[in-house]
Amino acid sequence: MGKTTLCPKCGSKKIKILVPQTGIWTCLKCGYQGGVLIEDNNMEKQIKDAKKMDKLSKKLMRGRL
Ligand SMILES: [Zn+2]
Repeated sequence: MGKTTLCPKCGSKKIKILVPQTGIWTCLKCGYQGGVLIEDNNMEKQIKDAKKMDKLSKKLMRGRL
């Protein structure tokens, strides 16, 4: 569908999927890693949501490791 995804931390488009099974991405610019990325529209709202989700997913990941 050609959607653009951005790093929720720095807004960079230089992102790469790290673990396809879990949908974890890494940002090549700032090093952000997480399961949440934002699409290239409605960015401010999505950044807010992404930060919430990021906290959640970090909790979950910590529980598993
Ligand atoms: Zn970034």
